[in-house]
Amino acid sequence: MKEYIKFSQEDIKDYTKRNYKLVGKNKHSAVQLCRWTKSKLTKGRNCYKSIYGIKSHRCVQMSPSLDFCSFSCSFCWRPFGKDRFKSENKWDQPEEIIDGMIEAQRSLVSGYGGNSRTTLETFKDANDPVHVAISLDGESTLYPQIAELIREIKLRKMTVFLVTNGTMPNKIKELVEKDAEPDNLSISVYATNKEDYKKITNSFIENEFEKVNESLNLMKEFRTARTIMRTTLVKGLNDNDPEGFAKLINIYKPKFFQIKGYSYLGASKKRLKKTNMPYMEEIEKFAEIISKSTGYIIKTRDDISRVIVMVKDEETWKWNSEKIKEQEERISQRPKSDFTTKKVLRKTLNIIPEQQSI
Ligand code: SF4
Repeated sequence: MKEYIKFSQEDIKDYTKRNYKLVGKNKHSAVQLCRWTKSKLTKGRNCYKSIYGIKSHRCVQMSPSLDFCSFSCSFCWRPFGKDRFKSENKWDQPEEIIDGMIEAQRSLVSGYGGNSRTTLETFKDANDPVHVAISLDGESTLYPQIAELIREIKLRKMTVFLVTNGTMPNKIKELVEKDAEPDNLSISVYATNKEDYKKITNSFIENEFEKVNESLNLMKEFRTARTIMRTTLVKGLNDNDPEGFAKLINIYKPKFFQIKGYSYLGASKKRLKKTNMPYMEEIEKFAEIISKSTGYIIKTRDDISRVIVMVKDEETWKWNSEKIKEQEERISQRPKSDFTTKKVLRKTLNIIPEQQSI
């Protein structure tokens, strides 16, 4: 198979314009500051994933497979490039990606050093990221060394949140086989039957619904990961079958089920209307039907993100608290951050006098 680099100089310029920091020599990985990282830095408000122990200002939102995807979902906010489903490329090694990712995150937060709403403490912590959310853009399991990437992140005493569309069950299996369980394995499920799946995802592959089911079936083999089944609820597109979702939950028994309301954002505006956004009450109603049919307990309602998180049972919720403690223990074993040795950050730190910190 011929290897090539997917992006042209023009594409790279375009990503840079959208505040992505491309990482690694082959430019298939990227970091972008998450809105919640910014929110925590300036307003102290965390994303709802604090229920999994994530501190937004210390979280890197990244992708090792920029724009590679087996789907082109109509509700996706990312712009679709050409050759979206191509798995041949020149790939960087996990170590290079992680080194570049940390450097990129530090550069992206460096501006907050002079922000009067950012405490020095928060700024310093933000320069030492400890959580990695592999969720920025593209299907993460199309990066051939996804298992090795996760192992390397954990070796560096960080936590990993993997979001996948579940179309590569062989790669999900590999995570178990290679002892590379992420802390959170989140599989997106967009419909409850074969026909709707094809229509909603505009899939490039065959048998996508079967493949996603195969991935969901593998969740039971994960021992340490929080297994999460999630969906993006789009009014008029996939909000008509809560019972179908309940059926899938009852079969695969993920530890958590998460519903996020579609947001009329980015490139999805070309494909959908504002009226496709469900109101929070509609998302709640959908969740309540699922709760009745599965026994899953609604634990988190986040009005800003328009998210509802449900947990399998109280025992799983208790286990989740223990897992947060284990994550904190792992993070505390990290060697002391070397960020003060980085020229750019030293410079930034020097421009904030101590007394300005809140
Ligand atoms: S977990 Fe996701 S939403 Fe929360 S800070 Fe990280 S990237 Fe942002």
